[in-house]
Amino acid sequence: MSVPRFAVIGHPVSHSLSPRIHAAFSHQTGITMDYGTLDAAPTDLAAALERFHRDGGAGANVTMPHKRAAAALCESLADRAERSGVVNTLVRTATGWRGDNTDGLGLVRDLTDRHSQDLRGRRVLLIGAGGAAHGVAPALLDAGISDLFIVNRTESRTDALADALGEPARVHPRYFKDLDTLGSFDLIINATSIGHDADGSELPLPGSLIRRRCDVVDLAYGEAAIGFLAWARASGADRLIDGLGMLVEQAAESFELWHGVHPDTDAIHDELRAEYPIGSIGR
Ligand code: NAP
Repeated sequence: MSVPRFAVIGHPVSHSLSPRIHAAFSHQTGITMDYGTLDAAPTDLAAALERFHRDGGAGANVTMPHKRAAAALCESLADRAERSGVVNTLVRTATGWRGDNTDGLGLVRDLTDRHSQDLRGRRVLLIGAGGAAHGVAPALLDAGISDLFIVNRTESRTDALADALGEPARVHPRYFKDLDTLGSFDLIINATSIGHDADGSELPLPGSLIRRRCDVVDLAYGEAAIGFLAWARASGADRLIDGLGMLVEQAAESFELWHGVHPDTDAIHDELRAEYPIGSIGR
């Protein structure tokens, strides 16, 4: 019997840790699968997914820049993918791709289970309105935060994300120029890709955003998270968290969608943490 194929599809994608994480889950659970990377330019996404299916592709993770385009190619969407408008997980059914989004649950699991945070009643600032922000925003609301303020460089995208979330009492689109007037937050999440920019650009953030016992999260990890988390530490943040835990948790949720088994995440998380330390930034 042929081994079912899975892949992470992105552009570029060679840097992805997903094959390594899924290999660890496969080894741990005894579920055999072939999980690789699939590099597809945006213009080739539909054809690449079709070829992948013909070659035995049973499921995929979707990463930058394809999360929104892949949602549009799906035959059906899970509720949380419908709400976020973006997918990070594809499951092949008898008739087409079913899209889901495990990013939000991955972040919430990392914050609540690994970092023992209680998200209920927290005043949250989300910076960014791209694929990751769309993925995590619904899950943060579902976890019981009191308010979600959103800022993004392209203001129309801030408004579009807030409109899509459809909870005007709790969701507040704002602009970078207003940040001085917003007061302080319990939780600040950087969902921008600025840390990947080679030019070392920084977000224009006042230290007044950080209140006592404020936790700060960058969805990126490694080098890409250093600039933002260094700003947070210098501004007095209580706890600094990067995106490595979310990466492992969202992968575990995808694995469960494909195989019906939720793998333990601690071993691979700790292995990767040794290679991508946050200790030099955090406490
Ligand atoms: P994306 O869809 O391309 O969105 C990029 C976002 O960053 C947009 O909001 C964009 O603003 C903003 N941005 C880019 N350059 C900026 C700059 N110089 N100044 C201000 N804002 C800037 O990317 P994504 O998929 O949302 O990914 C965002 C981040 O989350 C990345 O660091 C990615 O690695 C991380 N991520 C982590 C995980 C995980 O599992 N840990 C999962 C997904 C993503 P505009 O709208 O104005 O362009």
